[in-house]
Amino acid sequence: MNCFQHANHTAVAVCGNCGKAMCNDCGMITSAGKMVCSTDCAEATEQFTGMIAHIYKKTQQQNRTNAITFLLIGIILLVYGLYEQLQFGQSPLTLYMLAAGGVLLITGLWYWRLGIKSQKQDT
Ligand SMILES: [Zn+2]
Ligand SMILES: [Zn+2]
Repeated sequence: MNCFQHANHTAVAVCGNCGKAMCNDCGMITSAGKMVCSTDCAEATEQFTGMIAHIYKKTQQQNRTNAITFLLIGIILLVYGLYEQLQFGQSPLTLYMLAAGGVLLITGLWYWRLGIKSQKQDT
């Protein structure tokens, strides 16, 4: 494979944006550490990296919000289900509340772990 600009130069890398093969003279490295063929491609990848980082951060926040919501509803259901069960004895309703509360708690913990995990990847 040869460079897209210099037919007699062997390509050493491909552009991280457009995928063109390029030689040592043509390639440049973006701040994100990607090899690209032109300033246009450098800008494009930088925008793309910024966008990914933005979406990633948003997802992370969303995960934590989800975690707190699920944990809260789960705890309320569990406490309420336990209270009903102690007060009025076991019934399909208390069983349902305890089961649903447990599922919500597990879902909440799962989201919480996702939030923590992605936080660790950041640093
Ligand atoms: Zn390119
Ligand atoms: Zn070249």
